[in-house]
Amino acid sequence: MKTRLQQEFFKAYGKNSTQTYFSPGRVNLIGEHIDYNGGLVMPCAITFGTYLFVAPNSDNVFRFKSMNFSDETEVPVHSASFHKKDELWYNYPIGIIDYFIKEGKSLSGLDMLFYGDIPIGSGLSSSASIEVVTAFALNDMFDAGYSKLELVKLSQSVENNFIGVSCGIMDQFAVAFGEESKALMLDCNTLDYEAVDSNLGDYLLAIINTNKPRKLAESKYNERVQECKTALTALKAELDINNLCDIDTGTFNQHKHLIKDETVLKRATHVVEENDRVKLAAKALSDNNLLEFGKLMYASHHSLSELYEVSGKELDAIVDYCKTNIAVAGARMTGAGFGGCAIALVKKDAFENFSKEVSEYYTDKTGYAPSVYSSLIGDGVGILKEAVKA
Ligand code: ADP
Ligand code: MG
Repeated sequence: MKTRLQQEFFKAYGKNSTQTYFSPGRVNLIGEHIDYNGGLVMPCAITFGTYLFVAPNSDNVFRFKSMNFSDETEVPVHSASFHKKDELWYNYPIGIIDYFIKEGKSLSGLDMLFYGDIPIGSGLSSSASIEVVTAFALNDMFDAGYSKLELVKLSQSVENNFIGVSCGIMDQFAVAFGEESKALMLDCNTLDYEAVDSNLGDYLLAIINTNKPRKLAESKYNERVQECKTALTALKAELDINNLCDIDTGTFNQHKHLIKDETVLKRATHVVEENDRVKLAAKALSDNNLLEFGKLMYASHHSLSELYEVSGKELDAIVDYCKTNIAVAGARMTGAGFGGCAIALVKKDAFENFSKEVSEYYTDKTGYAPSVYSSLIGDGVGILKEAVKA
């Protein structure tokens, strides 16, 4: 039986799609603002993502349509070069194609239809998802021979250089390497990672979108990067280190007197302690101790709010509410902060009530209406085997 999305493909192109690919979005479970300090992050893939339906064409063009956006386009396969056009959505797949062609990969005409059920632009990485699903599909259809890690790196390079957003590698890594019921403890420097068993049992992952525009995020992000550099320089007077996360909390406490600026000291304290928390979190997850993991989530949030100062009244309101609900094991902001999403571990049978109460509380405190989603930890990019329920 044809699913609705396959019917949409037929409506769009007058033929059936020949293959369907899926790439998820992601959340970072713990390990925030430490990727640029050589620390450990712990993202996982979620069960929302981007579907890509494709069929070859003999017209020697790439055609791009998305059910999430009304703009569509087609470009000749043998264009001399591909350019970014304004802020249009199809820059993402065109950027990926541009990369393949510049590397001498031989591609031919393709009709493409994208559909995403990830809330777009909310920090759940719909951008990494559309990049990686396109790269994976091209690699598969045209036998381009890239490894999964190469697909991750080229997708990041497209986001950095073609789109112009300076993101790290975590997002593309998580959506490509995610595994059902596993969190990925990733060292952003070496790209060594461990898939940590994360059986959520009676719990699910609630994602609460503040629906607040993240205006401050970029300037404050750059400010934090600078503050961390200042802290590192100060510590180097006594320690032979390249990154703040090269030391644990104990060592940091012995040398933190070198950091004279009180604000810089707060930032560095968050970084070092958060990195230690990720290691404890991995242990709690693999011990199936979700209550302990939840405590670490709350501690992470508290540190991001008080020491790193990247939360805000919206994200704080969500976490404050969570602490009052016994069906919640833990909660924290996720992503760069100043808006975006919070995550919470919520008992499955209490989710409906949670969703209602957290929304009421949040709207009362902030005047915004949130969006609340439930997710499990899902698989990374791949060929979609089962019928799409949409
Ligand atoms: P986030 O990654 O947090 O969701 P970004 O602003 O980085 O937000 O990326 C969102 C952009 O990615 C969208 O504005 C659009 O250009 C592109 N995009 C994501 N998903 C889709 C989709 N399903 N169809 C078309 N474009 C998409
Ligand atoms: Mg993005």
